[in-house]
Amino acid sequence: MGAFFPKDFLAITLLTSYAFYTSGSAGIPQGGSVGMVRRMLERYQSLGGSVERNADVTAAKVDERRLCGVQLKDARTITGEAFIWAADPHQLFYKILSETYLDRNLRTMYEHPEGYVANTGYQAAFGVLGEGDLHLPKGSVVFSCEPYTVAGESKDLCGIRLYDYDKTLFPADKRVIQCNVLLNNGTFAYWSSLSKTAYEEEKRALAETLRQRIESRFPAVRGRLVLPSTYSPLTFARWCHAYQGAYMSFNALKGYKPLYVKSTVPGLRNLFLASQWVQTGGGLPLAAASGKFAVQELMKRCPPPTASGRHR
Ligand SMILES: Cc1cc2nc3c(=O)[nH]c(=O)nc-3n(C[C@H](O)[C@H](O)[C@H](O)COP(=O)(O)OP(=O)(O)OC[C@H]3O[C@@H](n4cnc5c(N)ncnc54)[C@H](O)[C@@H]3O)c2cc1C
Repeated sequence: MGAFFPKDFLAITLLTSYAFYTSGSAGIPQGGSVGMVRRMLERYQSLGGSVERNADVTAAKVDERRLCGVQLKDARTITGEAFIWAADPHQLFYKILSETYLDRNLRTMYEHPEGYVANTGYQAAFGVLGEGDLHLPKGSVVFSCEPYTVAGESKDLCGIRLYDYDKTLFPADKRVIQCNVLLNNGTFAYWSSLSKTAYEEEKRALAETLRQRIESRFPAVRGRLVLPSTYSPLTFARWCHAYQGAYMSFNALKGYKPLYVKSTVPGLRNLFLASQWVQTGGGLPLAAASGKFAVQELMKRCPPPTASGRHR
């Protein structure tokens, strides 16, 4: 359990995750996240939606309690009747808009890191050479191993998963073993403090440590692992602007209440939030549900015009 959940998680996390699996309401989408996103995109486009890729929002223009437009990194401005912010809200309130629009509960969580933690992680993805049986157990495997240290945290467990269950994503000659090291939120500062060279070396050395642990536990993979990629908390921050490299949202520690964040933005009538950060815990299902709530609020406040041109 200590390898699966950071040590400061509440015990309820284990119960809920376990309940998701045993009740059959959790699963892995076919094609992984790429497959899921592709299906959502097709549905969205079939309804008339359009998508701009590589279009980071860098600024916003507000006029009389309304968001009038957002500016993209290539300096284009996008205007609209209503907006849903579906990215990490930290950058929205601390870089793009202003803290004055920050939801009270969200502010409490940002300002009380002693009670609300956002956990992060390091991962190494190993490609497997050859197609033969690896004699690995199915699903996620956690095993005890020789101790190693990551960002000052000592570990003696290793968590891996063999990605071979979905032929559309991972054919037999392209299998991947992903090694997942969960880290407490304080470690983001450690990774950020490293120079470029030290950072690259840290990632490489850690991957090598993990490779040795996997090979020692599963000799069938010895000499067959290559390293296409590693990703650290900084990777998540760089790619997705994830607050402190977090992979899920805040966790309320013992003695602190789980808090909910509204999908509306105080002081702005036409901006809505759809994000895992609107609830403690976070995760994909909550993020998806928050999208639905954001749309419901949008329909209430900014209903589409009727055929006669009047707003319903
Ligand atoms: C390695 C890993 C494993 C995980 N495993 C699980 C799991 O097994 N189960 C689970 O439930 N959850 C899991 N999660 C968590 C899950 O991925 C997140 O909860 C979920 O993706 C959050 O969705 P979101 O829409 O809030 O944010 P995101 O998925 O981060 O989407 C936000 C999007 O906005 C984009 N963006 C950011 N800033 C801007 C900007 N300024 N302008 C324009 N676009 C911007 C980002 O690039 C990103 O595409 C995992 C996360 C990681 C990192």
